[in-house]
Amino acid sequence: DIYAQIDAVEGQVDAYLTLCREDALAQAAEIDRRRAAGEKLPPLAGVPIAVKDNICTEGVSTTCASKMLENFVPPYSATVVDKLRQAGLITIGKVNMDEFAMGSSCENSHFKKTKNPHDLTRVPGGSSGGSAAALAACEATLALGSDTGGSIRQPAAFCGVVGLKPTYGAVSRYGLVAFASSLDQIGPMGRSCEDVAMLLSVITGKDELDATSTDCAHRDDYRAYLDQDVAGMRVGLPKEYFGEGVSQEVQSAVLAAADTYRRLGAEVVEVSIPSTAHALSAYYIISSAEASSNLARFDGVKYGYRAKEYESLTDMYVNSRTEGFGDEVKRRIMLGTYVLSSGYFDAYYKKGKAFQRQLCCEFEQAFAQCDFLITPTVPTTAFKLGENVDDPVAMYKSDICTVTVNIAGLPALSMPCGKDAAGLPIGMQLIGPKFGEDKLLSAGHAYEK
Ligand code: GLN
Repeated sequence: DIYAQIDAVEGQVDAYLTLCREDALAQAAEIDRRRAAGEKLPPLAGVPIAVKDNICTEGVSTTCASKMLENFVPPYSATVVDKLRQAGLITIGKVNMDEFAMGSSCENSHFKKTKNPHDLTRVPGGSSGGSAAALAACEATLALGSDTGGSIRQPAAFCGVVGLKPTYGAVSRYGLVAFASSLDQIGPMGRSCEDVAMLLSVITGKDELDATSTDCAHRDDYRAYLDQDVAGMRVGLPKEYFGEGVSQEVQSAVLAAADTYRRLGAEVVEVSIPSTAHALSAYYIISSAEASSNLARFDGVKYGYRAKEYESLTDMYVNSRTEGFGDEVKRRIMLGTYVLSSGYFDAYYKKGKAFQRQLCCEFEQAFAQCDFLITPTVPTTAFKLGENVDDPVAMYKSDICTVTVNIAGLPALSMPCGKDAAGLPIGMQLIGPKFGEDKLLSAGHAYEK
């Protein structure tokens, strides 16, 4: 069973923060019993899934890889977790991540450093690095991640697996610990487009508990769309994603994938998203602003870490937050508080939001010329553990190809498209118009074949 594989490799990979062995084995036995009794079960019944540790699981600790939530056991489950259970999937454990989903390497976890199964001296990416590493090491069959600026796609690329960031609103965020609420989305990860398609069918749909959720992306069975023909489709290559900073090997692999689409009968056209150059700045303004507000709730009063020593109430807040949050989280809170403060709001936050409108228009213009876009997911392959920890800006650059998608609320898929000279996986990103998940999955599936 899956735990045998976990026992064999987890000592090297360190993907999991919590294992739910007893509960999972009991659920598996129950599914076996129902199957033996001749009951017709949903297609994913009995499949083991790893859940990122910022998604609430009733009775099972949900830490966001933070000291702040080290002892937090939610009294309720996220909507997606309820949906997994109804579909018969078995949550086998909670996986590591960057603290509060802030980071690109999993090194911001308070608890452990997850390693890339393709090379244990390298990072798995982040923030959903535990999800991607667990899949690559066959420690799970499916996984859930969350993506605010690339956190599903970047680790999927580094670990050679498939990850989908759905259209904003496609999946309920109820029970996802909020980082930047206007950008966050939970999404499916797996080892093939078909696996990802099946999991997507389970988790999408309108939820009364999340006012931003919608039924527009829901399909009862996404597998039915996998064989849509790519012949006659138009594939857009946005030139800004192939420039400076993108390694030669990554560029060639992605351009070779575009050639594959040409061979399959698609037409490849060059398009332009000129605002891409400013996307990273806008992303760190908008996401940090929202994070500073969302993380205000962690004050040591109702839940979370409380400092042992303090003199006054203010002192208690200050000490709890000082001791409970790691450096990167503090950096984001300071940046976010700064861009929202009076006198700076117009210069930064308002400009960020204006940029967002501009970017949406540019994507709309691009999608008037093509069905989906193809870009690298990350400019490089997985970097070494420790390589970027002292240089936050170098770390942020890892997200340069992914953040535009969240700012514009679009769906995007990352999947493997080759290896570099060292044998490390290279990922390509397919970006679609809103609610174009079916198109992306069929295009991905056609490439896999
Ligand atoms: N790496 C990006 C950040 O640190 C993206 C994170 C994410 O998508 N959650 O903000």
